[in-house]
Amino acid sequence: PLRTPHRFDGDGPAVSMELPVLGTWDVVVVGGGTGGGPAAIGALRHGAKTLLLEYLNELGGTSTAGGITRYYYGHICGFTAEMDAAIGKVPGTPDWNRIDKGEWYRKEIRKQGGDIWTSVLVFGAVLDQAGKLGGVCVATPFGPGVVLANSVIDSTGNADIAAAAGAECQDQERELGVQGTGLSPLRPGDHYVNTDYMFSDDSDIIDLWRTFILGRERFKHAYDLGQLIATRERRRIVGDFVVSPLDIYNLRTYPDTICVSRSNFDSHGYTVHPLFTIKGPDHDAVFADLPYRSLLPRGVDGLLVTGLAISGHRDAMPILRMQPDVQNHGYAAGVAAAMAAESKKSLRDIDIKALQRHLVAIGNVPERVLTDVDSYPLPQATLAAAVEQLDDDWRRLSVVLAAPERALPLLRDAWRSAELPEQKLRYAHMLGMLGDGTGFATLLAAVEAAKDWDDGWNYRGMGQFGPSLSLQDSMIIALGRIGDRRAQDAILAKAKTLTTSHKFSHFRAVSLALSQVGDQRAAAVLAELLKQPGMSGHDQPVGSDPRRFAKMENPDYRRTEELRELFLAAALFRCGDVDGMGRAILERYVRDGRGIYARHAKYVLANP
Ligand SMILES: Cc1cc2nc3c(=O)[nH]c(=O)nc-3n(C[C@H](O)[C@H](O)[C@H](O)COP(=O)(O)OP(=O)(O)OC[C@H]3O[C@@H](n4cnc5c(N)ncnc54)[C@H](O)[C@@H]3O)c2cc1C
Repeated sequence: PLRTPHRFDGDGPAVSMELPVLGTWDVVVVGGGTGGGPAAIGALRHGAKTLLLEYLNELGGTSTAGGITRYYYGHICGFTAEMDAAIGKVPGTPDWNRIDKGEWYRKEIRKQGGDIWTSVLVFGAVLDQAGKLGGVCVATPFGPGVVLANSVIDSTGNADIAAAAGAECQDQERELGVQGTGLSPLRPGDHYVNTDYMFSDDSDIIDLWRTFILGRERFKHAYDLGQLIATRERRRIVGDFVVSPLDIYNLRTYPDTICVSRSNFDSHGYTVHPLFTIKGPDHDAVFADLPYRSLLPRGVDGLLVTGLAISGHRDAMPILRMQPDVQNHGYAAGVAAAMAAESKKSLRDIDIKALQRHLVAIGNVPERVLTDVDSYPLPQATLAAAVEQLDDDWRRLSVVLAAPERALPLLRDAWRSAELPEQKLRYAHMLGMLGDGTGFATLLAAVEAAKDWDDGWNYRGMGQFGPSLSLQDSMIIALGRIGDRRAQDAILAKAKTLTTSHKFSHFRAVSLALSQVGDQRAAAVLAELLKQPGMSGHDQPVGSDPRRFAKMENPDYRRTEELRELFLAAALFRCGDVDGMGRAILERYVRDGRGIYARHAKYVLANP
């Protein structure tokens, strides 16, 4: 049956059709964007017969058609540095010419004898009897067909092929957190235009339509609008390895590193990882190793995934998604696929050391990757020292969270022996975040003692760094994680003081905590909050004219209001609801034009 998007319950009609086989290649790359162009070049340079499929009529994806013709950090080396030099980008200067870049991809691929099909939408996966991916279905301007391949590289940036092949994807609808989306205006002569004014779901056709209308209206005096919606966060696979922010902070090394990425935690929204629930991300740029396994979708053979769809936690992606690094890991994926074709081995069995030796030789990765091993599990002494140092500005928090089971007894001891009140609170806070109630009384007393709210956080797209929760928010969430009903009164007392003039993070904290405690008594307070003027009614039903919302001066505040309403409604529903109010709001959001909201509301209704 046809697999339909989340908006249409159930599968579409069963279709049975025969498609002509249009050819066989060693490597087929789907998507000729930031990761896909380099992947095709990597495969071709290693002798693979290669086909690149792209539905636009320009190569480069976000780095050309998306209007993001500038690096923001990234580790500029190896293949990326070679390409920069070839297109005349001078190191240290910002922009490149998007036509030069797209054309360089085309010429480089053609020079090596590669095939490029543009105006081709790839719409499905071909699996053999054993479940190995053996090709993809294509809609060409001349009719549909199948292209067969030894290996496929999914460079759609949205895991389109992985999803079609049945690969597990991350359950992004569970957390209502997504990086802001842009859709850049085009101005004659300008190449780089970076925006962030909405959320958009690449897997949702209704949302994509809405996004274009909104963008056209917002920039109606511009010469034109980009062809490619600039989503910073898209569907991601669950790979053989999932990179987390803890791995990044702990400078984790791997035996199969194929790229060293670099950026800062430019989150374009709030962070959700437990690490950042306690201590916000730093502003400084960091390096992060990327293992080959994070390109391999769990449970599917014959497929590699690149770019925004790789297997990383959403809060790790800001470090992994910069163009210099996507280009370099895309190139590595192409070489890996060529090696698999040549050796007739599966992508999981290629000679990873041979791949790394090549990447070292061209300067993509440092020599140390050849001898690196997995630096986990962290030694007990490192963990013990980290627990001891927790009382000093959470310095080694990432180490503690990397081994929570082993850390818990140490944290309990530290809480018991801490002498200073602030030390005791810190350990109680940490224990609470791990769901342990040893320091419950300490934490509860701190929340009760805080009479006024501290400075919270409203949704911000551009330039959001550091914590997206206040200290009180974080302590309230930790109390909720303990799940002790005795926390309820203190959290409700805080909730009752909230008005629309308070910051979003307080609502988020209270909603998360009350949902976790799950006590029916919270429902009445949440319902009262939602009844305050301005607190609800921010949904935008499918079919409503998006132009109305394009005029809003401050898209960040609009998102703040919508998110606040959704968090409160979800908590109300999960605490037992009042007269079906929470359910009704969630059901309205299920019919919302914004796919991210619709999917989350649907998820909450199905997972009370
Ligand atoms: C608004 C924004 C600002 C950013 N700012 C910066 C910055 O300043 N500097 C920086 O270094 N990075 C920046 N980034 C990050 C970086 O640009 C992206 O992470 C990266 O370009 C994504 O690469 P990709 O290969 O995953 O996707 P893309 O480059 O988007 O490539 C995907 C390609 O696949 C094609 N495609 C998709 N589906 C199909 C299909 N079914 N069939 C055929 N073709 C298909 C698309 O047309 C596209 O060409 C920014 C990203 C965004 C969105």
